Amino acid sequence: MRKPIIAGNWKLHKTVAESLELANTLKTSLAGTTDTEIIIAPVFTALGKVAEALAGSNIAVAAQNCYPEATGAFTGEVSPLLLKDIGCSHCIVGHSERRQIFGEADQFINAKAKALLAENLKVILCIGETLEERQGGKMYDVLTTQIKNSLKDISAADMQNIILAYEPVWAIGTGQTASDEQAEEAHAFLRGLLQGMFDPEVAEATRILYGGSVKPANVDGLMAQEDIDGTLVGGASLKAEDFSRIVQFKCS
Ligand code: PEP
Repeated sequence: MRKPIIAGNWKLHKTVAESLELANTLKTSLAGTTDTEIIIAPVFTALGKVAEALAGSNIAVAAQNCYPEATGAFTGEVSPLLLKDIGCSHCIVGHSERRQIFGEADQFINAKAKALLAENLKVILCIGETLEERQGGKMYDVLTTQIKNSLKDISAADMQNIILAYEPVWAIGTGQTASDEQAEEAHAFLRGLLQGMFDPEVAEATRILYGGSVKPANVDGLMAQEDIDGTLVGGASLKAEDFSRIVQFKCS
């Protein structure tokens, strides 16, 4: 059985005070949730204070990015070591905004994943095709390349600390969600890839989240799919009421 995960990616939103307000509201409203793992990813400057406020709660704190070296002459960067130091347990890597806006490639994403694993942090690894790639019939090739390169030299044992997030780029921040069937098809494909790359146990145990305009109105249908183990939520994670409802999805 894979325990569901609902993660909120706050992107570049909210001051420290606003982040604390949202985190504390979620802490209260979701205190009774035990059957779903909850993760929030505030901006770098709010991570320490939010992690302090949520210490001992059922909400884990993720960074949205990191640099794959512990220390050194890397102006402006933040390492897994420093994230761990301020109470983060997870970090998102490979988000399509980092791939597209900052030109990050699979090799760099792989280095970040390995650096996070070395610090015993959990990795939320995002992958997904663009609309052009999907329409050009390249979706499966793109997903295969991204997964194989991003997970290069990562062991079956390390896969316990990797969470995959399938995020079709055309659905992120567009209000256009993949249908339940489109999402399930991609997730089942990814699970099959994991089986080939590792073994059936890893394929069965790895949580694969869906991301792309997840809202209270569409979460239940997505979560009812066999291979969808949770969601990575952008816009709707900024509103306490919406994110709480997403965490409390109803699977019939
Ligand atoms: C995301 O940023 O990972 C995301 C899925 O955003 P949104 O929910 O706003 O589409």
